[in-house]
Amino acid sequence: MGTVEAIRIAKRTGFCYGVREAIDMAKEASAAGKPTSTLGQVVHNEGVIRDLQALGIQTVDTLDDVREGAAVVIRAHGVRPEVMDRATDRGLEVIDGTCTWVIQEQKEIVRLVEDGYTIVLLGTPKHPEVVGLLGFAPDAIVVDEEEDWDRIPHRKKMALISQSTQPPWKFEKLAAYMVSRSHELKIVNTVCPVTIRRQQDTMETAREVDLMVVVGGRSSANTKELTRLCGIAGTAAIQIESARDLEDASPFDGARIVGVTGGTSTPIEDLHAVAQRILELAGTTRAAAAAGRLADEAFELAATPAGRTTSLPTASSTPASAA
Ligand code: SF4
Repeated sequence: MGTVEAIRIAKRTGFCYGVREAIDMAKEASAAGKPTSTLGQVVHNEGVIRDLQALGIQTVDTLDDVREGAAVVIRAHGVRPEVMDRATDRGLEVIDGTCTWVIQEQKEIVRLVEDGYTIVLLGTPKHPEVVGLLGFAPDAIVVDEEEDWDRIPHRKKMALISQSTQPPWKFEKLAAYMVSRSHELKIVNTVCPVTIRRQQDTMETAREVDLMVVVGGRSSANTKELTRLCGIAGTAAIQIESARDLEDASPFDGARIVGVTGGTSTPIEDLHAVAQRILELAGTTRAAAAAGRLADEAFELAATPAGRTTSLPTASSTPASAA
């Protein structure tokens, strides 16, 4: 018999508005009868991609895979400007799902180029958002972990800008580091507020529970950051991709209250499934018997209306209370 009595869900979970908008645009185009593709996975979540495929929406790696006249959705990360031009030249209907925050970032970086700054971009080098931004500022210096930072040259006029999902503490630390590298330093803080709020909510929940479960893509940097922050809050955390990864009750030994949070690409349906699975697998006899209801109640307590960010169409697995 397990020890888990209850689940707490971090206050704001589910897709961020950028991901949700891009998914909605794809669904609307497809519902209007247009053959629709997304350029790259619109969200790094296999379940969502399968659901979109069931609606006839394909994921393609390059524009060459989209036939003329079809609609192509640009995902929230955005793309290099020449990709937009190529899509238009090829006669595709471009549906721009670039997140408004990322569009703002792109405008800021263009301004920095025009104003003659040597630009340092804090980000993961091959991340699509960073690749897109470099299309607007090919000479920007991309740095990620602290070991990278000594590559930053000394210049008279420098600017610092960030990929939207970088941890705020890293951005602040890099800003301080760069003060001594330049005479004039312009700091443009483009860390997305959704990322910041998600981290705050996760830490708040972590402080109230015995163990945290973080749900998100294995390679997602912002999911890893959530796991790290749980540790800073003093609570052990396990990181999983979905409820299927929970096969063994041993990580929950002795835990009474378990917290659940997720990255901005994790739909709340996945978090609900995880909450229910934890209770079934590691709950007390009473909690295991009422797993579905207790998971529903955890969501009722947690999510603010703005936090109910799901766009999944009519997935049959969607629990009524989590939709
Ligand atoms: S994390 Fe922020 S910037 Fe990135 S897609 Fe979501 S809302 Fe937009």
